[in-house]
Amino acid sequence: MTTRFKTSIRRSIANESLQIALDNNTQRRLKGRAAALESLPDWRERRQHAHGIRAEVVSHLDEYLAPFIAKVEQNGIIVHRAGDTAEAIRIISGIIGLEPKLIAKSKSMVTEEIELDHALEAAGHRVVETDLGEYIVQLRGEKPAHIITPAVHLRRQDVGKLFQEKLGIPYTEDIPTLTATARKVLRQVFLTADVGITGVNFGVAETGTLCILTNEGNGRMVTTLPPIHIALMGMERIVPTLDDLALMLSLLPRSATGQKLTVYTQLIRSPRGADEMDGARERHLIILDNGRSRLQQSALQEALYCIRCGACLNACPVFRELSGHAYVGIDGSIAPYPGPIGSIVSPGLFGLRQFGHLAQASSLCGACKDICPVDIDLPKLLTRVRAGSISVTSRRSSVNSGQLPVTSGVGLSFPSKFGLKAYSRIASSPRLFAFSQKVAGLGTRILSPFSQWMRLPSITGWGYSKDFPRFATRTFRERFQHEVVFGDEIFNKEAASEKAVKAPKTQNVNLVERFSQELETVGGHVYRVKQDELSKGLIEFLRKYDVHEVMMWDSIPAFRQTDLSEAGVKVVTGTNPSLRVGITGALSAIAETGTLVIPSAKGQPLGASLLAEIHIAIIRSPQIVWSLVEVFQSNEVRDASATVLITGPSRTADIEMTLTIGVHGPKELHVFVVDG
Ligand code: SF4
Repeated sequence: MTTRFKTSIRRSIANESLQIALDNNTQRRLKGRAAALESLPDWRERRQHAHGIRAEVVSHLDEYLAPFIAKVEQNGIIVHRAGDTAEAIRIISGIIGLEPKLIAKSKSMVTEEIELDHALEAAGHRVVETDLGEYIVQLRGEKPAHIITPAVHLRRQDVGKLFQEKLGIPYTEDIPTLTATARKVLRQVFLTADVGITGVNFGVAETGTLCILTNEGNGRMVTTLPPIHIALMGMERIVPTLDDLALMLSLLPRSATGQKLTVYTQLIRSPRGADEMDGARERHLIILDNGRSRLQQSALQEALYCIRCGACLNACPVFRELSGHAYVGIDGSIAPYPGPIGSIVSPGLFGLRQFGHLAQASSLCGACKDICPVDIDLPKLLTRVRAGSISVTSRRSSVNSGQLPVTSGVGLSFPSKFGLKAYSRIASSPRLFAFSQKVAGLGTRILSPFSQWMRLPSITGWGYSKDFPRFATRTFRERFQHEVVFGDEIFNKEAASEKAVKAPKTQNVNLVERFSQELETVGGHVYRVKQDELSKGLIEFLRKYDVHEVMMWDSIPAFRQTDLSEAGVKVVTGTNPSLRVGITGALSAIAETGTLVIPSAKGQPLGASLLAEIHIAIIRSPQIVWSLVEVFQSNEVRDASATVLITGPSRTADIEMTLTIGVHGPKELHVFVVDG
């Protein structure tokens, strides 16, 4: 371990405020995740299936990239390939042009990886991070401390002081007030930005669709309002089909934030159509290598299966004490990717010399593997980094350089090499391994009773400062015959299969009831009305909110727009950001997750469900289906320039993990379900 890394570790551990912030984050994330998985009785099978898909794609990357690129281009998005950081920045700068521009950015780890903000600001542009957590760390001049919760290291007092100093508001610790301030400031950025930049969570080879997930709605804003949208994607983020995407979406939000589906799941297929009212007119996709081809050819290939959910960071007992800023390179620079996966990806992409020591900060307890939704064997990869069994040169070395030289035990002392060799021999034989566990258990049972009085002043470690731990009476292997261990939970195998048996039989589910229940759980409101009661119900609702003007789609099935005009409500077709209420229809809704499905089309601007404080949607009950898979089969979704799946009002938990509603998108979501 390097001196700088040791120093930053000590600094983190001694920081009491950081420790409290990290504990808050971990407890809530792990609890949320466990609860979300309860609703997915077959998650173990899904996890294995997802692992298989990622393995297939990563090992045949070129075969999936070629049809993906062809489809994306056919859809009208301009595709660029960047071999490294310099090339990516050159391409993006070329698209933006020389004139200083305002750039609204949505959260993206791959843009952090290439330090895009820094490069664009140096070129004279103004870049504004629009995810609340990213905005906070940008104002502080810091890097994100977690891959999905950038401001995890801060408490409300820190944010209060920051906003007082940078935004000139009176000091407050009230999180809704802080969030409302950011909403107000960033709304102006969205409305006036020249360019929007996002990452890409998944690219679908079958259809050329880009999938982008955000809870706050900033991803929607930066892809809908500015005329130019640039998406930057790591070359490994491909899934073969929309069905595979549905599988990944059943695992990623549950693992990342404990949600059944992210609030806004966007599917972007093309620039805005000629007859559409909103959406970027020009879209670019930059596919970045930056060392991924080398990683794919190395012993660390499995690290590319990662879908960046951040769960392994939350589960890691080391990360939980340190946070991302403690993971520093040999030169003291903060690693772009921290935690268990970061300790593999950072040296894998940027060099073993610079970041190889990060892999030492792991207890190899296996919690990261257990929690990973795509079942990456992180401990195995961490030991490979430790043993130096990859050899990656510099960050800017050429790409596609083929097979990496494999070395063994680079930089290790003779006893370490000998120990690893002996361990490797034992661990590769199940019988030898089982026998060694028994011997170790016997040894500690003999030592443990004496360890209290073995405390010699010259000895430090076990027996001196601590009692020697008693070994479990049964080995892990023996216990594993009866139990399945996953993260913090231990499920008995029989209990798990019982749960699976109790999985909902969709044919017996009342779809309307289930949809209402799920949407209300995430903060939405559902009203069931008969066809002849709809107008009356809607007008009463608007009166209650004292609303006299609304933005609305040109037409909504099941609803007569003239009823509103006759009741004295002015209807603006199209989008108007100053209006409080937006009324839309929906193509369908998903009962399993409480989700509305809204594709962009002529007369159906996406802004109507995004810009207002209150979004009202009207849907007929037969439009409600059970799952995402059915939605992805619909031609309207496959062919739309952009589709958004909305699961509740806009939300964030970026400050002290406190749930706050209405960051950038609507603060309220009301759905009128018309029976029959
Ligand atoms: S390695 Fe697994 S758990 Fe960690 S971020 Fe990636 S997908 Fe999530």
